[in-house]
Amino acid sequence: MPSLYTRFVSGALFPLHERLKHHDSVALRKQMERSQWLKPAELEALQLQRLNALLANVGRHVPYYRELFTREGIAAGEFKSLSELQRLPFLTKAVIRANTEAIKSDQAEGLARFNTGGSSGEPLIFFIGKQRVSHDVAAKWRATRWWDVDIGDPEMVVWGSPIELGAQDRVKAIRDKLLRTELLPAFEMSEAKLDSFVTAIRHKKPRMLFGYPSALSHIAKHARAKGQRMDDLGIKVAFVTSERLYDEQRALISEVFGCPVANGYGGRDAGFIAHQCPSGGMHLTAEDVIVELVDKDGMPVAPGEAGEIIVTHLATSDFPFIRYRTGDVAVMDTAQCPCGRGLPMLKEIQGRSTDFVITAEGTVMHGLALIYILRDLPGLTSFKVVQHSRERCEVLLVPEASFDAGAPARIIAGFKKRLGEQVEVEVKIVDTIPPEKSGKFRYIISHAV
Ligand SMILES: [Zn+2]
Repeated sequence: MPSLYTRFVSGALFPLHERLKHHDSVALRKQMERSQWLKPAELEALQLQRLNALLANVGRHVPYYRELFTREGIAAGEFKSLSELQRLPFLTKAVIRANTEAIKSDQAEGLARFNTGGSSGEPLIFFIGKQRVSHDVAAKWRATRWWDVDIGDPEMVVWGSPIELGAQDRVKAIRDKLLRTELLPAFEMSEAKLDSFVTAIRHKKPRMLFGYPSALSHIAKHARAKGQRMDDLGIKVAFVTSERLYDEQRALISEVFGCPVANGYGGRDAGFIAHQCPSGGMHLTAEDVIVELVDKDGMPVAPGEAGEIIVTHLATSDFPFIRYRTGDVAVMDTAQCPCGRGLPMLKEIQGRSTDFVITAEGTVMHGLALIYILRDLPGLTSFKVVQHSRERCEVLLVPEASFDAGAPARIIAGFKKRLGEQVEVEVKIVDTIPPEKSGKFRYIISHAV
């Protein structure tokens, strides 16, 4: 039974907040709670209808696609089946970097700038419109409700946070308080910090945990080592996202916090792509995203085979993500989920894994603490961080012509601030960064943890 406060937040306060921000996630969420029960064929028909509407729109208002459709003789908005999507080229990070202005719609208003490191050490700066935000909020809200958690229920978010709080963040802090969301900055994992995280979670008694699997399992391990019980707080579910979830992490988090672990897959760039339901199915947000799996030649893989995840987000007319290459690999699940939802499912997402690094003083720190310094730099094609020892760290950069000559000095200062002033940080400009011997690209490697 939701508490009175939760009913007030989800029924009144949050809808008001969304209306003030010109989002319509409340109506969208209600719609999506109906459409999740549609049959697969009905969902496909809905996808095709929305795809045609998106293509017709971007063919008129987005210079990059207007030119492309003219050049290729594509009648935008007249596809007869979803497979015709294959007539369009992939959207890579390099294409977005080279055409950022031409990808903005001439009708876009209030675009927000974001960045991501992706899974491959290839940073990307991109834009998101209000329509897209509403859809992602609605999709996440629907998924939490699968687990009997609503907006307004106390929530503990274990996440990276910027060092300085700007004005925007103070507004967010007030909003978070009203919505009963509390942030634990997860970058620094010192003993003292871990103690304070355990205390904060015990005090908050959240209905839901949300965070990186690596960070949540780190906290779980610490609580267990200290003999501190965490399974008596009434936590309903631990939502994990942003990294690959390993079986041993799932088992540890679930055991220590006494709750199931729900895996989610998505990102700021590609959107809220898939989420696990209580029956275990990793359901796609099929109303909003079309997912294709392709082989190394860009051709669709056979059912049951692994392929790179290609995403078309249907709510992105302001800054389109059409056939966007994520670099992540998955297998499509052909089974039917026992929950009865018609939303198709992914299985075995072989996504990114983030290494921890260690400071000169021995504090374990999430690798994203360093990545955040790099990924917002314009004109950077790719990067790799190698921590050779507590005393020495190497940063490889592949820049473009527009890369700021002053950036390496700022990178060194930022790394020293996080790792310790005495640490030697060496920035090297290179032409390419080869993958590891395993063939997999790892963008952060520590030999010191
Ligand atoms: Zn299900």
